[in-house]
Amino acid sequence: MGQSTETTDWVSRFADEVIEESERRAPGKPVVVASGLSPSGPIHLGNLREVMTPHLVADEIRRRGRQVRHLISWDDYDRYRKVPQGIAGVDKSWAEHIGKPLTSVPAPHGSAHPNWAEHFKAAMVESLAELGVEFDGISQTAQYTTGVYREQILHAVRHRGDIDAILDQYRTKKAPAKQQQKPLDEAELEAAEGSGAAAEDDGSSGTAGYFPYKPYCGNCEKDLTTVTSYVDDSTELSYTCTACGFAETVRLNEFNRGKLVWKVDWPMRWAYEGVVFEPSGVDHSSPGSSFQVGGQIVGIFGGKQPIGPMYAFVGISGMAKMSSSKGGVPTPGDALKIMEPQILRWLYARRRPNQSFKIAFDQEIQRLYDEWDKLDAKVAEGSALPADVAAHSRAVGTAGGELPRTPRPLPYRTLASVADITAGEAEQALRILSELDPENPIAALDEARPRYDKAEAWINNHVPADQRTIVREEPDTDLLKSLDEASQQSLRLLLDGLAEHWSLDGLTHLVYGVPKVQAGFAADATPKELPPEIKTAQRTFFALLYHLLVGRDTGPRLPTLLLAVGQDRVRALLGE
Ligand SMILES: [Zn+2]
Repeated sequence: MGQSTETTDWVSRFADEVIEESERRAPGKPVVVASGLSPSGPIHLGNLREVMTPHLVADEIRRRGRQVRHLISWDDYDRYRKVPQGIAGVDKSWAEHIGKPLTSVPAPHGSAHPNWAEHFKAAMVESLAELGVEFDGISQTAQYTTGVYREQILHAVRHRGDIDAILDQYRTKKAPAKQQQKPLDEAELEAAEGSGAAAEDDGSSGTAGYFPYKPYCGNCEKDLTTVTSYVDDSTELSYTCTACGFAETVRLNEFNRGKLVWKVDWPMRWAYEGVVFEPSGVDHSSPGSSFQVGGQIVGIFGGKQPIGPMYAFVGISGMAKMSSSKGGVPTPGDALKIMEPQILRWLYARRRPNQSFKIAFDQEIQRLYDEWDKLDAKVAEGSALPADVAAHSRAVGTAGGELPRTPRPLPYRTLASVADITAGEAEQALRILSELDPENPIAALDEARPRYDKAEAWINNHVPADQRTIVREEPDTDLLKSLDEASQQSLRLLLDGLAEHWSLDGLTHLVYGVPKVQAGFAADATPKELPPEIKTAQRTFFALLYHLLVGRDTGPRLPTLLLAVGQDRVRALLGE
């Protein structure tokens, strides 16, 4: 069981605040936190913060023995806005579905899922399970089409004048000097207001005055409808569809095919679910944003605005080149292919929501893993700082228990080098890995999994071809012949020591020791005992070895490279 880490980090401080506020609003009831995700396409890795921020707070509350619900609202009843580019199994013909609910759009060809929203939701659900995120998923399609929000919808429509008045304060603030001559079309609307739910029509486009509810057309299913009249007493609503010309009159008190406009929908759900904590992205933070306007509209539904920190942007490094085949969108699933869930959790836990950070798909991931392993060791020996211990504890598990760990977490950069050099040859990889630590060798590749698989996936998918390591087939005889006396001697010293130093530590000692011995010092002399020229000699020696082994100036760390190449081949390539 995870331990509570009282007030040592940002998560604890939010948990304090959220519990206190929940007790004030609904004493004795489970705490409710929420996230919203729109399955309009592959869910971007950057959007994971929308889930991880409330998850970490909910998990801390759970660790304290309190009941908490983390709602994930799947905004799958939102309109299909555009056909994302580069999605396998999707062509231009999907454009004909623009304007329908996401759950009414067909899934990409070959998908096992019944519709567009379910297809993209499924990948996210899988990643959240791997990350240990416990949540209650709520499909807004299911809620709306079964009439769950009937009272709320009728209430919003009855109070549409009040809602309009609130929205109007913001409309006048940003009113442009020029009058619009014609209504904006779809593309212009998106360009003017940015993308996402915030760009939605706020309900002021109807001919029957302001109306906060939009029917999906009974004929073509699109939301290009205009409410033409509404009778309060009978709830009779008439609309026409500008897409297909269909018109009908329905009774809103029994009609289930439409939704509240976004700026009303969101605060309605805060009130309906009693949400106490729901962070949102910086794009929702401007004046007139849905979060700010929602804070006023929620009162109409008898609710209160949640505690809602703005979270900063999460960037991705090193993905751009690699992703064009998949629509250019890295997903949490892509990150989990190259890093263990603990690492991804740690990235979110250690930074306050208002701090931005990057998730590395490039060489930086190796440094990140080094840093993680160092922290892991410090925590194990009890020397880490309290805030670091807290972040570590949130990374390795939840209130429900620890996430599965790699039994032998060998250094990621070593695993990556081994996967690189062996090109996926499992037997050879095991041979090399078992030689890393001959005193306590690993007996099966599974002991190094899943970390080994992640490092292998990283090498195969994110390291450009010109940075991959290709061990020479034949010795570079020209180079060997051209070597001066000193270089030849350095190779001799290395070859003579190979057999007795054949382990990761041994070879590290050997490759750094050769230039020292050559200069007349002991192999284990410390930097303080050595002249600075030794550093230059070491660099020159290493470059020579890289040239002879892989035909380049640089490569994976030499001890790993030597182990990976194997003793016989090393001897042959170094001219023995
Ligand atoms: Zn229609």
